[in-house]
Amino acid sequence: METGLAPPDTDSLEISLFGPGYGECIVIHLGLNDWIVVDSCIEPISREPVALAYFKTIGVNAFRIRLVVATHWDDDHISGISDVLRQATKAQFVCSSAMTSGEFRAVLSQWKPKSIIPGGSGIDEFDRVTDILADRAVDTKYPTPRLAHAQSMLWERQEPIPAEVRALSPSDAADMSAIAELAGIRKSDRRQRRRLPYIDGNHTSVVMSIRAGTASALLGADLEIRADRSLGWYAVTDHATNKADHEAYKIAHHGSANADNSEIWDQLLVNNPLTALTPFCRAGVLLPTCDDSDRILGRSTRSYLTAPATKKRYRTRDYVVQKTIDEITLQTCAIPNGFGHIRLRKKVNGSNWEVSCIGSALPLERFVRQHCRRQKAKK
Ligand SMILES: [Zn+2]
Ligand SMILES: [Zn+2]
Repeated sequence: METGLAPPDTDSLEISLFGPGYGECIVIHLGLNDWIVVDSCIEPISREPVALAYFKTIGVNAFRIRLVVATHWDDDHISGISDVLRQATKAQFVCSSAMTSGEFRAVLSQWKPKSIIPGGSGIDEFDRVTDILADRAVDTKYPTPRLAHAQSMLWERQEPIPAEVRALSPSDAADMSAIAELAGIRKSDRRQRRRLPYIDGNHTSVVMSIRAGTASALLGADLEIRADRSLGWYAVTDHATNKADHEAYKIAHHGSANADNSEIWDQLLVNNPLTALTPFCRAGVLLPTCDDSDRILGRSTRSYLTAPATKKRYRTRDYVVQKTIDEITLQTCAIPNGFGHIRLRKKVNGSNWEVSCIGSALPLERFVRQHCRRQKAKK
């Protein structure tokens, strides 16, 4: 974590996007020392959740956190989220209803005893969050997170600076289809419980619209495009009651093509918005690709990436081994040292955004210049 960072002014909206190469966390100041934390990942040096490390650096007490949101239950978005919630003693925990369904719990409990997830976290984080909620809700038998649905208001402040956090997804249909899918996994895995079921959390991820004064931002989570218009991004664009005026956009699903569509840009965002994204670099998958980056820059010249992750080929002096490796194109991810942090700030009634690239963060255009031209020349 970069030291010497100053906290935002009380009349500023601040959106800090953190991404080390694998993992994503957003910390938002809504003005007047009201904060929310969206998703969580681990700061590589201190090994603590990046949101808590950031609050320590800028001198903010965690009881000022109003919401802790888990947009969906993928490992790259929830690592350390229970630690954030534990410190955020006044916060509400928000997730989608599919994540709290009986089916989800049933699937989790089936593979829990043989948990072999690298990093361990998914299920453990879920259990810890549930325990914290139960400890805090002493007067009910049903300690529940706040469930996010399309158009539900998650947090609101009227005065003296109006601010709101509104969920734009998941749609009711997305919740239903996720629960049906979980039921299917539960049945099919009965005989082979050792296999880890694949739960696609992206489809029920929570997209949010943030407003403070006249400043606004759209947080795309990992929501993807689905052919069925009652699911995914089409359900958001078809039912958007907000004007197409979000000035800043946390790009959905690490910039992948399957999470992008012109309707998002045309119906939910201003022309040439400010955009920020984190890479996804794991198991041979690298996002954003050079094509993704070009496509995004075609929509927004003011785009920023938290870390310039690149694919790296294994190299060895042994000719035979190298030949085999090249044949199976074994690749790994090169993630630069340091931690990427994109900080966007705007006075709640001001006109200009101030962008800071901290650590390994950089303009997307520079990433393309440094890492994609060579790739293109090779083709
Ligand atoms: Zn995801
Ligand atoms: Zn992700």
